[in-house]
Amino acid sequence: MKQRFTLIGSGLAGGLLAAYLGRRGYDVDLYERRADPREGNIVGGRSINLAVSTRGIHALEQLGIADEILQHAIPMRGRMIHDKSAELHFSPYDVDPNKHINSIGRASLNTAVIAAAQRYPNVRVHFNHRCIHVDLHEAVAYLETENGQLTAKGDAVIGVDGAFSAVRQSMQMQISGFAYDESYLAHGYKELTIPPARDGSWQMEKEALHIWPRKSFMMIALPNPDGSFTCTLFWEFEGPRSFATTKTDEEVRRFFDEEFPDAVPLMPTLLDDFKQNATGSLVTIRCEPWYYRDKLCLVGDAAHAVVPFYGQGMNAAFEDCFVLDESFENFPDDRERAFAEYFSRRKENADALADLAIGNFIEMRDKTASKIFRVKKKLDHMLEALFPGIYLPLYTMVTFTRIPYAQAARRARLQDGIVYSGLAFLLVIATAIMVRLIF
Ligand SMILES: Cc1cc2nc3c(=O)[nH]c(=O)nc-3n(C[C@H](O)[C@H](O)[C@H](O)COP(=O)(O)OP(=O)(O)OC[C@H]3O[C@@H](n4cnc5c(N)ncnc54)[C@H](O)[C@@H]3O)c2cc1C
Repeated sequence: MKQRFTLIGSGLAGGLLAAYLGRRGYDVDLYERRADPREGNIVGGRSINLAVSTRGIHALEQLGIADEILQHAIPMRGRMIHDKSAELHFSPYDVDPNKHINSIGRASLNTAVIAAAQRYPNVRVHFNHRCIHVDLHEAVAYLETENGQLTAKGDAVIGVDGAFSAVRQSMQMQISGFAYDESYLAHGYKELTIPPARDGSWQMEKEALHIWPRKSFMMIALPNPDGSFTCTLFWEFEGPRSFATTKTDEEVRRFFDEEFPDAVPLMPTLLDDFKQNATGSLVTIRCEPWYYRDKLCLVGDAAHAVVPFYGQGMNAAFEDCFVLDESFENFPDDRERAFAEYFSRRKENADALADLAIGNFIEMRDKTASKIFRVKKKLDHMLEALFPGIYLPLYTMVTFTRIPYAQAARRARLQDGIVYSGLAFLLVIATAIMVRLIF
């Protein structure tokens, strides 16, 4: 019999998953608390643009929608580091200049995946429906609309409702022993704008991810197709110099003049943006299990929200959709086994990504500013060129391959161990030679 799914949340992963399930011929009702993004609704209240890379693109390719989506994207070929004296250093992402990540607007990506789902007549999308509770045992979702409450009953409910998932909260309430952990960074983020130049062109290098690393905090900027850049300031919430202590126009201006002198002349709306745009928080969420019998499953941020510093949260959520679809392929008549296989393939990797993402915050805000970082990147690229397919830098494995995150992290540790031991060995030999030459 045709399986019937109730999906909660038509964000990035919800739209894509609905398309995967629709293609499989399943009956899908997708409920989203917000209005239709095609009616000008701003999606999710999160970043305006994001970086899509190999894992995300692969998941889009399976549905034949990667090309149409990527035509709106801007390639970013490396990091452009802005130091305090306004000097620029470009560090390519990979030894292969064709490897790049892609800046894409969240709204256009969201719209594209929802449209892809709606190409299947067996997928129905219901906007302005907020899920307030799920009865796990009966796979019934309770929804609130402008016109009152209603229930949605299918064979299973899938929670694709993001980091603050109502579906996950229902699991917490109804599954004894459900493990849940959330941890917030001491940093928040605020989005700011660099508008296009008068002629509509980009005011900085277009094909780069710009970083202003300032040790304990940083600003980044990603290009948009309209010639603008969306900047994101990641800064401590509290402390002597922080969001909490920088309120007046004068304080904001002084902070930016001191820290980002080359960006300030490009940001005419800085003070208004700073005041008007909300300060977001950065959360890591780990939980388990991600499913309940054959009745309920979590996908994307609902299962594993990570901080954004590896640019992988959405890519990982898209990879979830692909893996869940493969699990349905492997167990077409046993939904519980399909959920179990999906969970066992993804959990370790989501945990590894959470750690990698926090680690990359330190790398981006602090280490990218140092010469040692640039030398290490060059050494990485040299080793990758010398030992193709054998030595792969961690960033390359995470961003440009589909090697599972946990495996990539283990392999990087091993490679680092070998490289550092080799360098230490060479240092000892060089010292011994010098000692012999001197004496
Ligand atoms: C500042 C920032 C920058 C980022 N940059 C990147 C990046 O460059 N690359 C990358 O890969 N990832 C990035 N991410 C992570 C990425 O945004 C998330 O991983 C991704 O959005 C997860 O998709 P999702 O569909 O699981 O959740 P969401 O996109 O959050 O979608 C959840 C959907 O569920 C809906 N919903 C929520 N509750 C309910 C309810 N009760 N009832 C009905 N609907 C509901 C919401 O309205 C929303 O539409 C970034 C995140 C942040 C915060």
